[in-house]
Order: sequence, then structure tokens, then C-alpha cells
Amino acid sequence: MTPTLLSFCLITFAAALAAEGAQAAGHTIQHAGDKPSVVGSATMFTGKVRQDSVARADEFSTSGITYVTFEPGARTLWHTHPAGQRLLIVSGKGLVGTADGRTDVVRAGDYVWGPPDVSHWHGATPDTAMVHIALTNSKNGKTVHWQKPVTDEEYAELAAKAVDPIKK
Ligand code: MN
Repeated sequence: MTPTLLSFCLITFAAALAAEGAQAAGHTIQHAGDKPSVVGSATMFTGKVRQDSVARADEFSTSGITYVTFEPGARTLWHTHPAGQRLLIVSGKGLVGTADGRTDVVRAGDYVWGPPDVSHWHGATPDTAMVHIALTNSKNGKTVHWQKPVTDEEYAELAAKAVDPIKK
């Protein structure tokens, strides 16, 4: 090996070590734009919904993280989570409904815990969009069981009688 080639190899090795060191000593950063936004499927949602996946469950956490953006009137189908789900409302005004017929109005900063196997739906209000972060727990690799849609009639009825903590 020539001295020039040797020094090139050493510099390359040192650079690789520095990069490795930075990764090992710090954090793994996933930058905005590393994952494309996904249009919510009709097998999961009614209306216009965008999903921005942040992270899946892994060996360090049983919880996946997704931003979900609901345009006005958009909502999930009825569904259950085998290990529950936490929702953090990031912006707008939304609705969370359960199979007992109760529907609650939620706004930015509100937090919702949905226990395992409770049939429910969530989405925007008829006139206002809503964004939430969904932290969805995983059990045996499953995070959700989708059921039937919240029909337009059902949605209008539930939205009209939703419990709003802010009286207007
Ligand atoms: Mn849910």
C-alpha cells in the first residue's frame, strides 16, 4: 500500500469512526420529510384524512406514533384497539365517540385515553378540522381492529348532541 493510499484509508476510517461516534453518543433523528404523508384509506376513514407516521412500536416502546389530520367532517370508522390508544389533540376541534352513544368535543391540548377493546371513533367536527397525535399500543403485533363506518346520518346525529366542555 502506498503512503498516499494509506493516509486516504486512515482519513476515511477516522471519518467513519467520527460518524459512528456521533450516532452512538447521541440520538437517532428522523427529520421532517423523511417519510411521505399518506392519504387515509377508506378501509379506515370516511372523508379526507392525512396520516403522517412518526414511529412504529419497537423493542423500546409498545406504542406507535402517528399524526392524523382530519378535514371537517372526516372521521375514523368504528374500531377497537387490543392494547388501547392515547390521543393528544394538537389543533382544531374534534369529536370522540363510544359505542354507548356518548360523544365528546375535544380541542387542542386535550388528552384522551381509550382502553383496550372499547369500540369507538374519532375525527373532526362537521365545520372544523382536527389534528391529533395517536399513540397506539400494540398487542401480538396488532394495533387496531376496524369495524363499520360511522354513516353520515349517524355522524350528524352524534355531532349534534356531543358533550362540549365549553358552553357557548
Ligand atoms: Mn382509536
